[in-house]
Amino acid sequence: MAETVGRLAPSPSGRMHPGNAAAFLTAWLSARSRGGRVLLRIEDLDPVRCTPEWAELIRQDLTWLGLTWDEEMTPQRFRSPFYEEKLALLRSRGLVYPCWCTRGTLNAARAPHAGDGHWIYPGTCLRLTPEQRAAKTAPPSVRLRVPDEEIAFTDRLFGPQRENLARDCGDFVLKKADGTFAYQLAVVADDVDGGVTEVVRGRDLLGSTARQIYLTRLLGGREASYLHVPMLLGPGGRKLSKRDLDLDMGELRRRVTPERMIGELAFRLGLIDRSEPVSAAELARDFDPARLSRTDVELGTEFCGARIG
Ligand code: GLU
Repeated sequence: MAETVGRLAPSPSGRMHPGNAAAFLTAWLSARSRGGRVLLRIEDLDPVRCTPEWAELIRQDLTWLGLTWDEEMTPQRFRSPFYEEKLALLRSRGLVYPCWCTRGTLNAARAPHAGDGHWIYPGTCLRLTPEQRAAKTAPPSVRLRVPDEEIAFTDRLFGPQRENLARDCGDFVLKKADGTFAYQLAVVADDVDGGVTEVVRGRDLLGSTARQIYLTRLLGGREASYLHVPMLLGPGGRKLSKRDLDLDMGELRRRVTPERMIGELAFRLGLIDRSEPVSAAELARDFDPARLSRTDVELGTEFCGARIG
């Protein structure tokens, strides 16, 4: 069997909160419990929200938690030429097209997607004539054409999933009009390049997986396995957020030991029966993803004795 390669893919837009830590712990346990390698990849495509300082704190916090990695991939903000190559490949096969729609024009014409809050692109710019395209002066974004075909996969926790990209998603953006690459392209290009065999991350990204599997196939990569981890929710059932200054690792590191925090995370996720101090390495000995909670986990107003929010 091929070697297991997992990855930790933090976005350095703030300090980690317990929800991020829960997803990274699970990703780490999944790879290490199979004797696999772990890659670290800083996903800093957004030049406004992401900073090298946050990235460094994330490295330190992961290390403090005992979530070690074997190799750090080049941070995404340095990889534009590589993503450009992948885009050129798709362009040469007629799979992408320029799009001048803005959030404003799309909002005016939008139709709600059944469920997860994103909008189905109506294909406006696909139908432009060469003359109409030539008449545009603004820089376009680049969209991928998606097929009217079902993408099916089995999430290791949430089970069988299927999505018809044309019907449920629409043509999606690979490069934004401001020249930055979109998460979907970067994450797939990097996972394929790193030989990643398993993707383990927050459940909020379950809805991106069909798009990513389709892109993986187009880029000639091997399909990874997917495990989506329940979200940890703060007061009132809302998602924890780096921007809302929810309880972060700075506060937690002042209060508790790494083992206490790992034990609490593992307990809340359903991996152990009692919240007691334990190291990530100890947990890796009998990691069983089937024990993970299938519903999001309400933390309420407190985590490890510290207030949330
Ligand atoms: N960078 C993303 C995040 O921090 C994770 C992307 C992924 O794992 O595919 O939420």
